[in-house]
Amino acid sequence: MRNGVRLTGRIIYQGDPGYEAARKNWDPHTDRCPKVFVFAQNAKDVSNAVIWAKANDVPIRARSGRHSLEVDLSQVDGGIVIDVSDMNSITLNKKEGTVIAGTGNTIGRVVHTLAPLGYMFPFGDSPTVGVGGITLGGGIGPLQRTVGLVSDNLIGVELVDANGRVIIANARQNSDLLWASKGGGGGNFGIYTRYKYKIRRAPSRATVFTIEWPWNQFEEVLKAWQRWAPFTSTRLGTYLEIGPRDGGNVTVQGLYLGCQRKAEELLQPVTSVGTPTSAFIRSLPYSEAVTYLLPPDPVLTHRFSNQFSSAYGNQPFPDKAIQITRKFLEKAEAGESGFFFLSWGGAIENVKPTDSAFFWRDAQYYVEWNASWLDHRDAERSIELVRHTRKKLQPYIYGSYINVPDQGIKNYGEEYYGANYPRLRQIKAEVDPQNVFNFPQSIKPARRREDC
Ligand SMILES: Cc1cc2nc3c(=O)[nH]c(=O)nc-3n(C[C@H](O)[C@H](O)[C@H](O)COP(=O)(O)OP(=O)(O)OC[C@H]3O[C@@H](n4cnc5c(N)ncnc54)[C@H](O)[C@@H]3O)c2cc1C
Repeated sequence: MRNGVRLTGRIIYQGDPGYEAARKNWDPHTDRCPKVFVFAQNAKDVSNAVIWAKANDVPIRARSGRHSLEVDLSQVDGGIVIDVSDMNSITLNKKEGTVIAGTGNTIGRVVHTLAPLGYMFPFGDSPTVGVGGITLGGGIGPLQRTVGLVSDNLIGVELVDANGRVIIANARQNSDLLWASKGGGGGNFGIYTRYKYKIRRAPSRATVFTIEWPWNQFEEVLKAWQRWAPFTSTRLGTYLEIGPRDGGNVTVQGLYLGCQRKAEELLQPVTSVGTPTSAFIRSLPYSEAVTYLLPPDPVLTHRFSNQFSSAYGNQPFPDKAIQITRKFLEKAEAGESGFFFLSWGGAIENVKPTDSAFFWRDAQYYVEWNASWLDHRDAERSIELVRHTRKKLQPYIYGSYINVPDQGIKNYGEEYYGANYPRLRQIKAEVDPQNVFNFPQSIKPARRREDC
């Protein structure tokens, strides 16, 4: 203890029972050896931890769902991890059409709480991702063409700032900070404790689909998907996954907020391609539809490490880009490696790029690729493969998604935030001028203009 501040909450120091479990992230490659974990039970615990860390000159990391996809973001050697995963209340206000979720919730928990009550909440492709991280970076997934990004639905936040003060940001107070929280990325402005979202009524039913092809048909499917997915009904959201040549296949999955007959008709441009090995298209009650897309996914048993990189495209991959994709898939190891595309457009485009920190709104699709490994001796090769592929694809892609970061990107401010980066730096200078919350690729405070 220094400066009279004590750590409060559930505290686990290096060497304590529970330390090994505490430092386990979704991706083993991101596990580190922090000095101490504080599992905060309320905003006061968070505040004490921030003040303690500053007094003791210990680097700080925030953590919610443990799904960070790059190193040194939600854990750091010798630092303090302020873990807010125990703060997982959910308060629905039906009259207002809002929900307040503690940052410790997983996205699946929020979705599965609201769906049986008849409400829709956007989600991605994994139920165990924390709302803490997914919201702050944007939050992309199959409902985004209808209801926008997760962050487009964010209307208020509570956070603890670099001085340990609890701050509220919404349209009336600290509105710049709310703007920055909608896509500015986790960890930059403080430790968030609660999020308030607007929610909408869900339809009573939705149609889900999964269509699979053998790996060697990926080029035909990719071409058809890219010419169809961004332009079909905005009530239809879909992703395309292409696994590694070694053991992978091709999958188109998603949902349509409408009836099965219409979904079958809309899907025809892709189902008619090649020879699908299976095609499941089924109308289900809405809450069963989201359970189909977000099945249970045990968070702490995941074994693969991964390097990801992400970008956007505003025209279909030409043959040269498809050749680069093929080379990557041929070289990447079996396991989780692959390419992933998500359809853009619809509600995302209806928000101006400068209306929130999330800038990249005019794309046709989002694309990410990742190389996975089990043996740490394969890490370097896989990381290099992903970064080399980014260089090769550069003429055909632009930007990058802060929630799927790649620390190989040098001009990361522009790549993650486009023209919004200068404003994010200004807000950072106001909220955290001493750059207490800093980590690889964090937002740097703008330099104060010299008084003349
Ligand atoms: C299997 C998997 C599937 C995914 N699918 C999708 C998807 O479909 N759509 C999508 O948009 N993204 C997806 N992602 C990416 C995901 O959105 C990011 O990895 C996100 O940052 C994870 O948030 P977290 O809270 O789980 O992770 P954490 O590791 O806890 O945190 C991630 C980052 O956010 C910061 N952070 C976390 N909580 C707070 C807080 N309370 N206050 C301040 N900063 C905080 C951390 O410091 C860190 O920088 C996926 C990731 C994985 C591993």
